[in-house]
Amino acid sequence: MLKNLDQKIIKNCRLCNSKKTFNFLDFGIVPIGNNYNKTKNASLKSKKFPLSLNLCKDCLHCQLTVSVNPKILYKTNYTYLSGTASSFINHFKHYKIWILKKTKLKPGSSILDVGSNDGSCLINFKKEFNICGIDPAKKPSDIANQKNIYTINDYLNHNSKKKILSKFGKFDLITSHNVLAHIEDNITTFNHIYDLLKLEGYFCFEVGYFLDVLKNNYFDTIYHEHIDYHSAKPLINFLMKINFSIINISTNKSQGGSLRILCKKSKNKYISKQSKNFLIKENKSQLITFKNLNKWSNRINLQVSKLNKIIQSYRNKSIVGYGAPTKSSLWIKLLKLNRKKIQYVVDDNALKVNKYFPNSEIKILPTNNLLKNNFGLIIVFAWNFEDDIIKNLKKMRLKNISVIIPLPKIKIYKL
Ligand SMILES: [Zn+2]
Repeated sequence: MLKNLDQKIIKNCRLCNSKKTFNFLDFGIVPIGNNYNKTKNASLKSKKFPLSLNLCKDCLHCQLTVSVNPKILYKTNYTYLSGTASSFINHFKHYKIWILKKTKLKPGSSILDVGSNDGSCLINFKKEFNICGIDPAKKPSDIANQKNIYTINDYLNHNSKKKILSKFGKFDLITSHNVLAHIEDNITTFNHIYDLLKLEGYFCFEVGYFLDVLKNNYFDTIYHEHIDYHSAKPLINFLMKINFSIINISTNKSQGGSLRILCKKSKNKYISKQSKNFLIKENKSQLITFKNLNKWSNRINLQVSKLNKIIQSYRNKSIVGYGAPTKSSLWIKLLKLNRKKIQYVVDDNALKVNKYFPNSEIKILPTNNLLKNNFGLIIVFAWNFEDDIIKNLKKMRLKNISVIIPLPKIKIYKL
């Protein structure tokens, strides 16, 4: 049974506070993606929550209809480590070059990373800058501190803000990657960030770009941890309302498509010409419209039923999964996978291995289990690492096996 404290219905738009919201997508009740459990019993008892999306009719922001209590979402079983994906490590290396060019930050300046995870971003700035991280997840924070990256294990709230200010003072740059769509009280958090900046200080953040999700049909990036599904227009309106100047808006391929916004706490509020042009281009795409969003759920159903047909055609062969990212829980639900249909799923993240998927009897085993070669089909849940995974499978010299990539287009490799 769900208690009232476990979840909160989100009535108003989280960016403009409008009450006029409209539901355009509903996956039903889904387990929390990262809630892997040590025992089958605990797994089967794990809670499930509604997963559906609303559009704000006033500012066109998209958001979940229900938010799960962050204590349930993050505290116990949170296993995501940015440092485990090599593509992410590269992303941060490029990010450092880009941000130093844009902000002309001098060595010795101070940088705060909000949602710093295991310190994968901050480690690049460690030598020349004063760095501080803050993250509510315990395990990643511990890992960062072991690497001598000063990290506070907490949410950014009134108390942690005071602690940061007394140790570091205000910051020249505050950065945040794929975090701000997770935060329950986003308006307060953005205000805290504003308070923590020096005058003329920069705030640069990346969030998933909902236009890329729509364009590419990446519907499995919708999960309880992401409360907001951002596009530039509603976000820029919101940032300007809380007094930020907008310096630059860009997109990049990180995490299936990200939106990067560079803003500034300046004396006089302004928006750059580049940012205005970005907004015009976004508006022209016509992706976030009632008409387009209404059609999206049919497109998703079509993709899922195609996949189910393919999986059905392998029913005489044993099936395994590759990768246990957060999104795999949605796939397990949509493809109606259970222990009878799928033997196990492999993943090399030490925090996930030998655990069970939430609300399921399916177990996660180390990747070298595939060497047993006693199956006919691999479903790749971590399809965003398609190239790396196929390379890895070829190295293992597996024979007579089909590999399904479920998104963005269904692809089948024969090994
Ligand atoms: Zn709104």
